[in-house]
Amino acid sequence: MTREYLKKADLTPKSDASETHKIVQDILNDIESGGDAKALEYAAKFDNYEGNVLLTPEEIEAACALVPEKLKADIRFSHNNVRRFAELQKSTVHDVQIEISPGFITGQKAIPVDAAGCYVPGGRYSHIASAIMTVTTAKVAGCKHITACSPPHPGVGVAPAIIYAAHICGADKIMAMGGVQGVAAMTFGLFGLPKANILVGPGNQFVAEAKRILFGRVGIDMIAGPTDSLILADSTADAHIVATDLVSQAEHGYNSPVWLVTDNRSLAEEVMRLVPAYINDLPEVNRENAAAAWRDYAEVILCADREEMAACSDEYAPEHLTVQADDLDWWLDRLTCYGSLFLGEETTVSYGDKAAGTNHVLPTSRAASYTGGLSVHKYMKIVTWQRSTRDGSKPVAEATARIARLEGMEGHARAADVRLAKYFPDETFD
Ligand code: NAD
Repeated sequence: MTREYLKKADLTPKSDASETHKIVQDILNDIESGGDAKALEYAAKFDNYEGNVLLTPEEIEAACALVPEKLKADIRFSHNNVRRFAELQKSTVHDVQIEISPGFITGQKAIPVDAAGCYVPGGRYSHIASAIMTVTTAKVAGCKHITACSPPHPGVGVAPAIIYAAHICGADKIMAMGGVQGVAAMTFGLFGLPKANILVGPGNQFVAEAKRILFGRVGIDMIAGPTDSLILADSTADAHIVATDLVSQAEHGYNSPVWLVTDNRSLAEEVMRLVPAYINDLPEVNRENAAAAWRDYAEVILCADREEMAACSDEYAPEHLTVQADDLDWWLDRLTCYGSLFLGEETTVSYGDKAAGTNHVLPTSRAASYTGGLSVHKYMKIVTWQRSTRDGSKPVAEATARIARLEGMEGHARAADVRLAKYFPDETFD
């Protein structure tokens, strides 16, 4: 390895995990015992909100009317792409069966969960696209009941564009409640909601911790940490585009890492010169986030060749991976660890985040080494079944009885014995 760090991160993303855990666990305990009233108390405390929680059809209609027509068209465009991509994913899921031995059939079915709870973050930015990503995939998967929840803002409620997106994508209920209280309401079935079977969607450290604690009694898509992004760029890359793309992902949050991996020193140096200027040019809030993320979490890594670049990228297992380099087919073939891959300058993470059709709820913090992001499959239970003729069950029963006895599980063995005795009374089995 000849890797050279032209910029090395001072920090790796972490939060004061034990403090967050305690805060969230206390809120969940309170809400589980205190019900709707306690959830409302927390909404007042954290979001200064005391309005209606479950939006009525009239409130939804009124909010939708506030959304400009052009934005509505853009949301429909994005929804259409995400829906069609999700439908493609669903078309790869088939119920299958095999005659595993003569007369004995084993099979697999994919069954959507009944109730999905979609968290749509809304603290810092209004994540319209998260409503599209989570609700649409749940709908295509075939969930019977979909709740979308998002933090309300005092005097405004949930952003009208989030309400519009959740509504047209197929949410059955839209809830003006965010953070731990929103997650708890969907899990415990407050405000007359069905209890969620699965919780999906990104959120801040409180939301992520609530999902982590509740996992087991409810399914989750994944535990999402701060967004991260890596760009692989060679001498053919445009430094202006690379720098712009790095800044675009650093604005997610003060602890959102962005990494540049390249085999070209002059490109790296030019990008490092441009990034601070582009950050300075952002509006204030975005500038603060991006500047902190670049200062504390960003890395620029110089490698010897593309093979070393690919190995470095797989090691980082980024949530978002961009390739701005020659021979895109080689990279598509070679790379193995990423949440979503953006091949070539003509696409960018922003497209995937908002409108291209692939899902933006993706594994962070190197989880891409073992999982992909949100898809139709996350809402589907892959279950199995079996049935048999009497003759077909004979060899399975014999093997079962012997294995079970060797394990010391006499009850299991007898479940096989009684069948052998009933179906084959004239035979003896050892
Ligand atoms: P959010 O909706 O996740 O959180 C807001 C809620 O946090 C509020 O409703 C409030 O109840 C709660 N909260 C705030 N301070 C609290 C405290 N001290 N104690 C308990 N609860 C508290 O919105 P956000 O904060 O803007 O975070 C959004 C997150 O989602 C960001 O980290 C962003 O990067 C992430 N995100 C990720 C993706 C992805 O696909 N990975 C997509 C979009 C957003």
